[in-house]
Amino acid sequence: MGDEQLQRQDTSTVTAQGGAEAIENLVIVGSGPAGYTAAIYAARANLSPLLVTGFQDGGIPGGQLMTTTHVENFPGFPDGILGPDLMDRCKAQALRWGTRLLEADAEAIDLSQRPFRIRAEGRTIRAQAVILATGASANRLQLPNEERYWSRGISACAICDGATPQFRNEELAVVGGGDSACEEAVYLTKYGSHVHLIVRGAQLRASAAMADRVLANPAITVHWRSQVADAGGDDQWMSAITLKDTVDGSTRELPVRGLFYAIGHTPNTRLVKDQLQLNSAGYLITQPGRPETSIEGVYAAGDVADAEWRQGITAAGSGCQAALAAERWLSHHNLAVAVRRDQLEPTAVGEPKRTAISDEANFDPSTLWQKGGYALRKLYHDSPNPLLVVYTSPTCGPCHVLKPQLKRVLEELGGRAQGVEIDIEADQEIAVQAGVTGTPMVQLFCRKELKQQWKGVKQRSEFRQAIEELLAVTA
Ligand SMILES: Cc1cc2nc3c(=O)[nH]c(=O)nc-3n(C[C@H](O)[C@H](O)[C@H](O)COP(=O)(O)OP(=O)(O)OC[C@H]3O[C@@H](n4cnc5c(N)ncnc54)[C@H](O)[C@@H]3O)c2cc1C
Repeated sequence: MGDEQLQRQDTSTVTAQGGAEAIENLVIVGSGPAGYTAAIYAARANLSPLLVTGFQDGGIPGGQLMTTTHVENFPGFPDGILGPDLMDRCKAQALRWGTRLLEADAEAIDLSQRPFRIRAEGRTIRAQAVILATGASANRLQLPNEERYWSRGISACAICDGATPQFRNEELAVVGGGDSACEEAVYLTKYGSHVHLIVRGAQLRASAAMADRVLANPAITVHWRSQVADAGGDDQWMSAITLKDTVDGSTRELPVRGLFYAIGHTPNTRLVKDQLQLNSAGYLITQPGRPETSIEGVYAAGDVADAEWRQGITAAGSGCQAALAAERWLSHHNLAVAVRRDQLEPTAVGEPKRTAISDEANFDPSTLWQKGGYALRKLYHDSPNPLLVVYTSPTCGPCHVLKPQLKRVLEELGGRAQGVEIDIEADQEIAVQAGVTGTPMVQLFCRKELKQQWKGVKQRSEFRQAIEELLAVTA
């Protein structure tokens, strides 16, 4: 597109401060390593980027690294770092430099007109430039009984759900033959009595080091040339899977209480599939070695355009490229309105604060958010207020996403409701009593009565509405 055509756009109402009439300089869609790195660069270039984090469509805020434990290959962390902690740091760095977040899914993207249009949370956002960093989503097998046993034995995230009581000392299965499948199989030996790895072919696609770890582990049996055909069990929980031999088609039952999917990812390009060039697997096509897509002013970063490397650091690197390219393009066409900083050096973020486990000595009945069985028992029995109990496990990325959302709800309610976090690994008895089948799980109690229960990450408004309804009844 020529300069003239771009500059003919009316930029007289352009402001980067938000508001109904504002045209954003740059909207970044996606909050994985690619999205946050793009945001850090764009924010430091005074573009005041708006980052649409995503919520449920195509993963969770923070992206795929929220579903893993130790990341040992991201430079700068010699002893490794937990995936969710790494993403918390990326987010904090992006915010520190002035990135604005919209915690929602982009529901539609219209690249046919300028400024581009992004619909999210009922708003239409106009943007001069867009970076697509929507990553990739975990594939499912689409078994006949998949819906029935989803979260009742079947899970797409061993790291999130492995610590669930129902999996303890039980036989478990992982399906897949790549690095993720191997990592999950090894991880699950911590909880299950034995792990079966179901592999379609005759060899593992994982790296040699990973494959060796699996093959040498006596707690793992590999079922070669096998496919999962279905899952079975009773109304409560899955108890077996049907394996089909990929050579002769014969079937057999394998009694397992858990089935974990690790069968690859599909790029999240649904919103732009008829607008931008994609390859046959659905990945965005960019100029070779560069972030530009088939439409000028639209850039791709991370796994959404990368079927080959798919690493945190490559995603971050391409996020940097996309932001620099967008900045150059915006300034070349005089389309950006730079913000002026009050403070040249924004305040340091510091280390994240952790909630201490409450006990007799430090328990305070008026504290908004506490942790552990002691606080739960005290508030459950003594407090007249609605009580949100969130069940988490230490390595669960979605739990990491949910906790700040719940804390915000409680803050907004100004102390009229309280929250307690239960780590199901530390408080296994409580998890069993509460019937936890995966994390995160949230229960809302009022005066010793269970009022509502949620599984997985939900919108803040759902929790707030449920508590407000309770407050209205009990007032
Ligand atoms: C189990 C596992 C372990 C891994 N371990 C490692 C490791 O040790 N080291 C390593 O380097 N890499 C690892 N990876 C790979 C790494 O996680 C990815 O390469 C990297 O996260 C890709 O980053 P990304 O920003 O491109 O996308 P993602 O991390 O996939 O993030 C995509 C983002 O887009 C958002 N999104 C999607 N759709 C929408 C929408 N409609 N609107 C708004 N937002 C949307 C999602 O919410 C998410 O925030 C691992 C991956 C997995 C699954």
